[in-house]
Parts: sequence; structure tokens; C-alpha cells
Amino acid sequence: MAVYQHILLAVDFSDHCKEVAKKAQQLAEQHQAKLSVVHVVDNLPVTDAAYGPIPFDVDFTQELLDMAKNRLSQFAAGLDIPEAQRWMEIGSPKLEIVRIAEENQVDLIVVGSHGRHGLALLLGSTANGVLHHAKCDVLAVRILND
Ligand code: AMP
Repeated sequence: MAVYQHILLAVDFSDHCKEVAKKAQQLAEQHQAKLSVVHVVDNLPVTDAAYGPIPFDVDFTQELLDMAKNRLSQFAAGLDIPEAQRWMEIGSPKLEIVRIAEENQVDLIVVGSHGRHGLALLLGSTANGVLHHAKCDVLAVRILND
């Protein structure tokens, strides 16, 4: 079995993300690897004035980002992941996860087989996208129906 040195856990804060995190943590312990975590904020509110008057205060975007940051801090602290190994990005989850992995010499990305987007597909779209784009190994932790 390959020996991993840097494992990146991708979290979307769905119901099952703790299960996925537990697996990543166990693997990191077994391999004595560094464990990092990434969360990507997608679907930011549209603030393009071309669509007409903006219906909400633009500060909402900052609030959303602050909430996401807090959530990530709490989650990462629970896993003893130091601040320098926590990333919060904005954009396409699959592309940002892969970019962070490449820029930080990650050799294993851990995702859930499904996240907030439900169980309709055999493999969720983010998990599938990461698997297709990543240059390193990817572990999709199987999430079963409740
Ligand atoms: P999905 O393919 O969207 O059903 O999600 C599958 C897995 O991809 C989740 O269990 C997470 O590990 C990861 N993931 C999905 N969305 C995000 C996100 N916004 N940020 C970080 N990881 C994510």
C-alpha cells in the first residue's frame, strides 16, 4: 500500500461529513501523514446589476463567508488541524479542491461519495469531478442510505 504524506480532507458540512473526516483522520494516523482540510464556498449570491436592482445588502456575501470560516474553524479544531492547514476557497468545489491539493503536494484527497447534493448519482458530482481532475490518489468514502 502506498504511503501517504499529506492527506487533504474536503468537507461540505453535510450530515455525513464527520464519518468522512474520521476515515481521513485514521488514515493520517496510520500513515503518519499531515492532515489538511478544505471547504469551498460555492453558489455565492449573484450581485450583477445587469439583472436589475440587487435585492439584498451586499454585506450578506461577507456574512456568508464569515459563517463558513467559523464553521471550518470549529470543524478543523475538532480534528486538531492547525490553522496553516485549513483552506477556505470560493469557486467551483471540484476545481478548488484539486488546485489546493496540487499547490500543497497533497498525495491523497479524501471526499465523501455523496454530500449535500443527495444520493441520486452513483458518485456525487463533486466527488466525480475531483476523481477526474486530480493528479493524486482520491478516496471516496462510501456514504450509504440511512
Ligand atoms: P457531492 O459530490 O457534491 O455529493 O459531494 C461529495 C463530497 O465532495 C462531499 O462529501 C465532500 O467531501 C466533497 N465536497 C462537496 N462539496 C464540497 C465543498 N463545497 N467544499 C469541499 N468539499 C466538498
